[in-house]
Amino acid sequence: MLFMTQNILKNFVRPKATRAYPFVVREPFENFRGELVNDMDKCIFCSMCAKKCPSQCITVDRTTGTWDCDPYACVYCSVCVDSCPVNSLSMKNQHRKPAVVKEPLLLKGTPPQPKKKTGARAKASGSETPPADRTAPGGDDTPKAE
Ligand code: SF4
Ligand code: SF4
Repeated sequence: MLFMTQNILKNFVRPKATRAYPFVVREPFENFRGELVNDMDKCIFCSMCAKKCPSQCITVDRTTGTWDCDPYACVYCSVCVDSCPVNSLSMKNQHRKPAVVKEPLLLKGTPPQPKKKTGARAKASGSETPPADRTAPGGDDTPKAE
């Protein structure tokens, strides 16, 4: 009983160990893993995030220009953020807001157009521009009689 009374008296003078949440909110830690966001202006639709995601909750479609993530399957591991080659993915320092309907995070962007092959690479793949029509006027390369 004496031990308990000592503790009670100490707790009256000690600073509080808890906060009056939600009126007092703690500052997030450094590198806090909150809501996942994608800057679609930077995204190059390389699918690296989808390949590396351990939850397989990211789908990247170059043809439709869509990037989507199921935030309810995401485990907020940040592997996708670390593997994005153009740093288009990041995590906010806040948790995602609660919702009553499960909606995926569906974003639209513009996938980069594939580059045209030129020079030796084009020759190797056989897609080089065909030579000029030799039957056309001025295109005849037959040896001329002397
Ligand atoms: S944070 Fe982890 S689980 Fe969530 S989408 Fe990125 S890689 Fe997948
Ligand atoms: S978010 Fe990053 S890793 Fe994912 S498809 Fe876009 S550029 Fe590639």
